[in-house]
Amino acid sequence: MSESAEGARVLIVEDEPHIRDLVALHLRLEGLTTVAVGDGNEGLRHARAEPFDIIVLDLMLPGLDGWGVIELARKEGIGVPIVVVSARGSEPDRVRTLELGADDYLVKPFSMDELVARVRAAARRGARPLVATRGDAIEIDGLRIDPSVVQAYVDGESLDLTPTEFRLLHMLALERGRVVTRDELLQALWGRRHTYRDRTVDVFVRKLRDKLDRRSPRRTFIQTRYGVGYRFEPAEREPVR
Ligand code: CA
Repeated sequence: MSESAEGARVLIVEDEPHIRDLVALHLRLEGLTTVAVGDGNEGLRHARAEPFDIIVLDLMLPGLDGWGVIELARKEGIGVPIVVVSARGSEPDRVRTLELGADDYLVKPFSMDELVARVRAAARRGARPLVATRGDAIEIDGLRIDPSVVQAYVDGESLDLTPTEFRLLHMLALERGRVVTRDELLQALWGRRHTYRDRTVDVFVRKLRDKLDRRSPRRTFIQTRYGVGYRFEPAEREPVR
């Protein structure tokens, strides 16, 4: 798979001018196009008005903070991958932010190499894949997973997956019946190795299951292998007593 994210459009929302300029510079050196703004309301306006492939978002911002940007963007159906960069590094902060709808989380101070790697990975997961998505739609027990539109459906109804949620479901479904480890998922989708503190995959599986359950309450699709990873295998849900 190509590592290039060339041509991707990145919206940077960061109020510290020094960091904002440095991030923009490094992404432009990678051939990405950047728009950089310094407050949350302005960031949201840009996200609504123009198509971006990635948003790099600070949390502590004047006006609307980063959590507000994520919440409103997702509520409005803006699914673009959001890479959060924040000095707030505790696990509850990270998990809460991913649950709100961010796609990845980078703790300040970070290296520019690390940021570029995260942004590249986010670009690969995007709604307009820069690397052509191959493969036909997968249909299993009323669930249709369609890479050509980066969306999945149950009985014809959209699951409203974000591109990252879609890539996770698609990868698991391609490996149907096999337990895919957290490390494999994190490497393939987020471009980094799994560490024991990293809850990213678990948060995304939970969000995916919530959306599947809403459309398909009597069936489960993603099974957990405790301590290892996840397996795609449709099953009837055990009746609740
Ligand atoms: Ca800030």
